[in-house]
Amino acid sequence: MGNALPGRNLCALAGFGAVVCAAVGMVACHSEGSGGIGAVSGGIGIPFGVRAADLIVVNARVWTVDSAKPHAEAVAIAGDRIAAVGSRAEVEALRGPKTRVIDAGSRFLMPGFNDAHIHLMTGGAQLDSVDLKDATTPDEFARRIGERAHALAKNEWVLGGNWDEQAWPGAPLPTRQMIDQVTSETPVFVNRYDEHMSLANSAALRLAGVTAKTPDPPGGMIVRDASGNPTGILKDAAQSYVYKVIPAPTHDQRVRTLKRALAHMASLGVTSVQDMGPDPDDVAVYQDLAEAGELTTRIRAVPAEVGLAARLAAGPVHHKAFPFLRVSGSKGFADGSLGSTTAYFYEPYSDAPAAHGLLADEMQPLDQMRSRLVSIDKAGEQLCVHAIGDHAIAMVLDLFAEVAKANGPRDRRPRIEHSQHVAPADFDRYAQLGAIASVQPYHCIDDGKWAEKRIGPERAKTTYAFRSFADHKVRLAFGSDWPVAPLDPVQGIYAAVTRATLDGKRPGGWVPEQKVGVDQAIEAFTMGAAYAEFMEREKGSITVGKLADLVVLSADPFAVAADALRDLRVQVTIAGGKVVYERR
Ligand SMILES: [Zn+2]
Repeated sequence: MGNALPGRNLCALAGFGAVVCAAVGMVACHSEGSGGIGAVSGGIGIPFGVRAADLIVVNARVWTVDSAKPHAEAVAIAGDRIAAVGSRAEVEALRGPKTRVIDAGSRFLMPGFNDAHIHLMTGGAQLDSVDLKDATTPDEFARRIGERAHALAKNEWVLGGNWDEQAWPGAPLPTRQMIDQVTSETPVFVNRYDEHMSLANSAALRLAGVTAKTPDPPGGMIVRDASGNPTGILKDAAQSYVYKVIPAPTHDQRVRTLKRALAHMASLGVTSVQDMGPDPDDVAVYQDLAEAGELTTRIRAVPAEVGLAARLAAGPVHHKAFPFLRVSGSKGFADGSLGSTTAYFYEPYSDAPAAHGLLADEMQPLDQMRSRLVSIDKAGEQLCVHAIGDHAIAMVLDLFAEVAKANGPRDRRPRIEHSQHVAPADFDRYAQLGAIASVQPYHCIDDGKWAEKRIGPERAKTTYAFRSFADHKVRLAFGSDWPVAPLDPVQGIYAAVTRATLDGKRPGGWVPEQKVGVDQAIEAFTMGAAYAEFMEREKGSITVGKLADLVVLSADPFAVAADALRDLRVQVTIAGGKVVYERR
């Protein structure tokens, strides 16, 4: 492999690392420069046993997600790697005078969760912004926004929100008039929880220069009242009219946001995340904290597809590689969301017969999308494309096929992010293309409250079709889409296993044929997600030589009733051999 490795850029920022890393393992990738992963004695395939363990966890019900050895009772860690997995006696053999011992009290120990699709800094910002998700009336919505506006300094914006009008009587879209009185000159731009539309107050529209005369941009819509004036709701690409005028956070604000997010992730057992389309200024903050050794969750940043092809054409961007930070792959958009009726379908929406949804502006014209994807793939980067409606998914599968034809066969693992509403004929196409279904099970029990009235019973059968994917041997990677949905992976497992909608109206599960087992759900949140980032040799299972990323749960998910899965709590989180969270 040596002559295939172009020096230090292997795992580099927007570099050519992902595929090569998978082929040779991260030990080789990090053998120069970082002094991180490769520095531990041993490594894959080299027997441990010489060095005493730094940490051992005993008295655990270990579920390894390694089919060669699914169960164990103890695990030893040396440095940031797993040194032994087995019986208590086998593991205690590595105990030295300085070894820390954690008694798991017969609890369940499993690999750390890998969230295959999050928006890390938006999530972090959400932890410190107005929370509208459970505001169940327009009055409560306005009250919380007003309260927030009064707490802010001059020129600061009310942002975040995650509102959900479906929770309100009659589900009316909010308007600027609802909030203008309580916010006056404080600009407000609060997003629907799916982030495919946002509400601006009049102050924000004025700053953005959005008036009755402003045209709808490609891939977006300004919602207007009967006289043509903007109501304040901006859909998809139209949101950027306002995003453009929101002042960017400072570096220090970003550091605070990331630290808040890291603490939240550690408390939920999330030891790896795949951050979709981050702001490059945020990636710089990840890098600062990685260099300082302060990351407690591994971050794979997946840059936005738009603009990436041009950067790659200019050559790889040189950056140091860190065991806790990689930048690789590309994230594109094919359509919008179901909640905003912008997911792109063949047939019209059942509750909006004039609408099929919208193709994302990136897809228009399609030729340019295709040629960008071909050049990104040619540079060795993975393609991850957001597609929700059945037509958008089919178009992305077409694009993946065309990319493979243009660049020839290789292990490329293209991903369709969300993969929500799949035409029955397309499951086989995922399998043929080796495409990964990167899905977020919590959406199923949340959107499942209202989705069927929007798409009808026939399309619902292959909606959030986790079981169909598994049956067609399509690799599943689970994630949360945080902050669109809660980060907590335990809620995702509960959702995938029960499909019990959050309103309690379908306790037996919405489309119960699509339920998966606890083992499949855990696999998709660990090995499946690791595979989806070409890291299955490094993490995703409790296997000797892999990174020591582990969580202890409060109870055994295989032993509790499906209903009780949502009550599981993370007791201990270990990332890179260090305890990064302990429940007190
Ligand atoms: Zn997302």
